[in-house]
Amino acid sequence: MRREELSAVLGVVKKSLKPYLGRFPSNTRLPERGRSRKEILDEIRTMKSEEQRVWREGYVSGAVYHGDEEFVGFLSDVYALNAELNPLHPDVWPRATRFEAEIVAMTASMLSSDRSPTREQDGGVCGLITSGGTESILTAMRCARDQARTERGITQPELLMPATAHAAFSKASQYYGLTPVRVPVDAAGRADVAAMRAAITDRTAAMVGSAPGFPWGVVDPIEELSALAHERGIWFHTDACLGGFLLPWAERLGEAVPPFDFRLAGVTSMSCDTHKYGYAAKGTSVVLYRNAHLRRYSYFTMTDWPGGLYNSPTMAGSRPGALSAEAWAALLNMGEQGYLDATRRIVDTAKAIRKGIAAIPELRLLGDSLLVAAFTSDVFNAYALQDLLSARGWNLTGLQLPPGIHLGMTLRTAQPGVADRFLVDLGAAVAELRANPGRGSLMAPIYGLGQAIDTEVSLGDVLTGYLDVQYEN
Ligand SMILES: *Cc1c(COP(=O)(O)O)cnc(C)c1O
Repeated sequence: MRREELSAVLGVVKKSLKPYLGRFPSNTRLPERGRSRKEILDEIRTMKSEEQRVWREGYVSGAVYHGDEEFVGFLSDVYALNAELNPLHPDVWPRATRFEAEIVAMTASMLSSDRSPTREQDGGVCGLITSGGTESILTAMRCARDQARTERGITQPELLMPATAHAAFSKASQYYGLTPVRVPVDAAGRADVAAMRAAITDRTAAMVGSAPGFPWGVVDPIEELSALAHERGIWFHTDACLGGFLLPWAERLGEAVPPFDFRLAGVTSMSCDTHKYGYAAKGTSVVLYRNAHLRRYSYFTMTDWPGGLYNSPTMAGSRPGALSAEAWAALLNMGEQGYLDATRRIVDTAKAIRKGIAAIPELRLLGDSLLVAAFTSDVFNAYALQDLLSARGWNLTGLQLPPGIHLGMTLRTAQPGVADRFLVDLGAAVAELRANPGRGSLMAPIYGLGQAIDTEVSLGDVLTGYLDVQYEN
C-alpha cells in the first residue's frame, strides 16, 4: 500500500466513525455558558437511538453480553446510588471495600478456590478488582515478572504463550519489558503442549493458557500446561476473561469442560471478566492469585510523599467505585440460577448456529467451542463472505492466520429468532458467492499487509491511523 492509499482508507474510516460531524456542533472548546441538561440529554438520546438497533437485535459479535432493558435499568439505578464512590478513599466509603471484597470472593469461589490443593499451606486464593480484562492481564503479568526477578533471579524475562493468547499479553510484554514468545497452536486451535514445553527456557517468567481463547473460543489444555509450569516453578496464568463466568456453569450443566481453574495446583493466577459473561456494566474485571503473597507483587506503597501516606493495589489511583457496585449487584441479582439459565441459552444458541454452519458444504468450522462460532471457507474468500454478512447488518469479527469469521454468543444472540436469522443470512451470502465464487474483498489486501514487507505503508500504520482518527473532530 502507498501513502495516498492509506489516506483514502483513513478517509473511509473517518466517515464511518464520525457520522455526527456536521450534524451536531463540534465541541472543540468549552461552551462559554453551560448548555441545558435537556439539550444535552436529547442529543445523547438521538445518537443512542441510531446506534442501538445493531447490538440490541443481536447483530454484533460479543460486545453487549446482557443488554435487557430492565436489567440495564437496575444496574443504572445501582450506579446512581453510588456515583461518588472512590475506593481510593475506603474510609469515606467503606461500602466500596465490601463490594470489591465480595466480588472477588464470589468469583474465586466460582473458580474453585475452596478446592485449591494448596489452600491449607498458603492461605488460599485472593484477588483484585481492575478496569477490565486487559488490566487484569497486565496486572498479573507485572506480578509474574517481578516474582521471577525477585524469587528466581530472571532479569530478561520471557512470556511464553500459545499464538492465540489475547493481544493483551503482547501489550503487557511491551509495557513491562517481557519478551513475548508465541507458539503455534495445533489444528484444533489448542495450545500445542509439546511445542510449549520445547519453548521453555531459563528465562521463562510466565506461561499462559486460555479458557477459552478469543479467536476460535477453544479451551487450551490447561491441565497439562500448568503441570509443565509447576514442575519448573514457572508462574502460570489462566486467561478466563471470556469464559470465567460461563465455563463453570456449562460444566454444571453437563457440558464437557476441561479443568482450567484453581483445582489445578499449577495455576498461579487467573483473569475473569465481570463485564463479559458476568453481565456487569463495562469497566470491571477480577484478577485472582493463588495466594496473598503473590498478590502483593501488585501493590504500591509510598511512605515519604509530601502528599501523605499513599497506597494502591493496582495501576489506577482513583477508581470508579460505582462500577464495582454495579458488578456486585449484577452478581447478586443473577445468582447461580441466573448464570445457569443464561449459560444454557448461550450454549444452545452456539450449538444451533454451529450446526447450521456445519450443514453448509463450502464452510468449515474452526475449533470446538461452547460460546463461539468461528468458521472459514476453503472455496470462497472468507472476507468476501464477511462483507456480504456486513451488508445484511451483521457486525462480526474477521480472524486472520488463518482467515475466518468469528461470532461470539451473548444473550443478545440467544434471543428468539436471532440464530435462525443468522443462518438465513449466511445461506443467502453463500448463495451469492456460489454465483460469483471469485469475489474478493476490500479487507483481504488489508489483512495481507500484515505479512507484506516491501510496501510503503504497513498494516501497523493503518491501525495507528485508525486510532488517530478516533480523536479527530
Ligand atoms: C476480552 C478478552 C480479554 C481482554 O478483555 P478486555 O476486557 O477487552 O480488556 C482477554 N482475554 C480474552 C480471552 C478475552 O476474550
